[in-house]
Amino acid sequence: TMAVTREAAEQWIRAYAAAIAEHEQALTQLDMAIGDGDHGANMHRGFQAVLSRLPTVAEGDLAALFKLVGMTLLSTVGGTSGPLYGTLFLQMALRAQGKHELAPEELEAALRAGLDGIIARGKAAPGDKTMIDALKPAQDALRQALNQQESLPEALRQAEEAARKGRDATTAMEARKGRASYLGPRSVGHPDPGATSAHLLMECAARTWV
Ligand code: ADP
Ligand code: MG
Ligand code: MG
Repeated sequence: TMAVTREAAEQWIRAYAAAIAEHEQALTQLDMAIGDGDHGANMHRGFQAVLSRLPTVAEGDLAALFKLVGMTLLSTVGGTSGPLYGTLFLQMALRAQGKHELAPEELEAALRAGLDGIIARGKAAPGDKTMIDALKPAQDALRQALNQQESLPEALRQAEEAARKGRDATTAMEARKGRASYLGPRSVGHPDPGATSAHLLMECAARTWV
């Protein structure tokens, strides 16, 4: 079966940095509607810093790559999303210690640890209108597809689709976590910015492993 190589993982990170650059304005618009209008700028600042630091881990394993991403997001992104995405990658790094490639099941376990880390840190539940509403369905779809012996590309395709549906479902939700929760019922009718950037992360994964 197809393995997740160090090289492909870096491609995923680079693809996500490019997607964030492309969608910076759109993410900012979404955050202007229900937050403070900085989600695009926060994510772009963080991933441009990641890109500039990637050469420092060129010789490292997968853990070194994921740790660099997590630490850089923690230290360069001011908003709530930085520590949360930072946690995702730091948890993935712990699951990738000493490894230059991961089996699909190991990638799933690493992402699962990342999601659990975000939940432990942010205390959001499904339905609270956060990035969890895109990430959790994606993670569940990924696990289910791999359990059913689907290939990694097909499993990631299904995960991306679940993330997209999860993102879309946030529009009808009332925010119960983060700045958008200050709006109460007025947060209804707008997609969540973090669920939108989380879907992009899964979309980039699906495009990287084809
Ligand atoms: P800030 O709100 O500090 O300006 P961002 O605008 O970068 O940070 O990120 C906002 C996004 O963070 C929200 O759209 C939501 O998806 C996510 N978020 C906020 N609070 C939480 C939380 N407690 N758990 C999970 N995700 C959260
Ligand atoms: Mg914001
Ligand atoms: Mg902010």
